[in-house]
Amino acid sequence: MMSIQIFKPKFAVEECLAEIRECLEKGWTGLGFKTVEFENAWKNYTDLPFAYYVNSATAGLNLAVEILKEKHGWLDGDEIISTPITFVSTNHAILKAGMKVVFADIDDTMCLSPASVRERISERTRAVMFVGIGGNIGHYYEIVDICREHNLTLILDAAHMSGTRVFKKGMEMPGKEAEAIIYSFQAVKNLPTADSGMLCFKDGALDTIARKKGWLGINKDTYSRSTDSGNYKWRYHVDYVGEKYHGNSIMAAIGLVQLKYLDRDNAYRAQMVRWYRENFSAYPEYIKMITVPKECQSSNHLFQIIVNNRDDLILYLNKCGIAPGVHYVDNINYPMYSYAKGTCPYAAFVSEHVLSLPLHMDLTFDDVQFICDEIIKFVKRNEKITLPTFKGDE
Ligand SMILES: *Cc1c(COP(=O)(O)O)cnc(C)c1O
Repeated sequence: MMSIQIFKPKFAVEECLAEIRECLEKGWTGLGFKTVEFENAWKNYTDLPFAYYVNSATAGLNLAVEILKEKHGWLDGDEIISTPITFVSTNHAILKAGMKVVFADIDDTMCLSPASVRERISERTRAVMFVGIGGNIGHYYEIVDICREHNLTLILDAAHMSGTRVFKKGMEMPGKEAEAIIYSFQAVKNLPTADSGMLCFKDGALDTIARKKGWLGINKDTYSRSTDSGNYKWRYHVDYVGEKYHGNSIMAAIGLVQLKYLDRDNAYRAQMVRWYRENFSAYPEYIKMITVPKECQSSNHLFQIIVNNRDDLILYLNKCGIAPGVHYVDNINYPMYSYAKGTCPYAAFVSEHVLSLPLHMDLTFDDVQFICDEIIKFVKRNEKITLPTFKGDE
């Protein structure tokens, strides 16, 4: 019997139902209405200039790569440097656009190693895809500099980063540096809906293109501009062979409510992470924790540790009623990326040793304590763990 799950989204149920009720009573559950409200609320929250509400972050990633490729005139087979430690939709988006994923290795932040990224830049490199794993900023700002230096486009998969802030001159949200940022509001992310995401372009012209491509290529503007009588309301141009990627008002209704609680929820996540870290800090020879730069206030989507005998530890924890997770299996293990075998040794090691511990709003101090006690009991019977070196640490 499993009693402590890794994720368990918490919804402000009555408030969500009230927002959804508004959609149902108005008879407007689709595109527009709450989706527009949510886009505005998100721009306000992140201070980003544009936000297009999509039905998943995967949809947002697909659109982002495709649209940037067209804008910059990238060719099929041109390269985007990305991480092997991510959810596959990050890298699938690159493949789907006809481009090549060149994997760079990660470092002790679980994010791309700047030194490894530098090594992988070639004549055909066009962009870097950065993923803030678990909400961590990692060495994002060094990657920003590398992109500037080499005239590369930066794309930020911020699926885990809702609410992540960073101290620069004051606290701010990372992302303005990227040409496209993609957030996920999937069922177990920090701002859960059921499925949806936000695609935020830096360039307003690309936001406009995304809105057409995300709705089958339909362009409503041509006729609505040419007529004020409403005679041609039913008529529209189709500019592209687009996809059905836009979000809807029911999901946006949930998102609007959940956004109100994002910072509160993230504050409790941070508290739980402090409890975990305090417990494990006495066992550095057995439990390695992830490095989070001190200027980063992570959303703490994940709390990850690196241990020996990870798979046995999962079985042991399952017997204790605890269900941890793994984020992620090295994508190079999957057939469409196997051409990169052997190129990212640190990621390959992490993939076999990393474990994500339960982190959600229903966990108590006692739960965290119980999880820590069981893990410590187990790892003390293990061999001590030594991590391989990573690029940038030699
Ligand atoms: C969840 C996730 C995605 C995909 O998000 P969806 O909204 O489920 O499409 C993309 N990248 C990362 C890193 C994720 O964790």
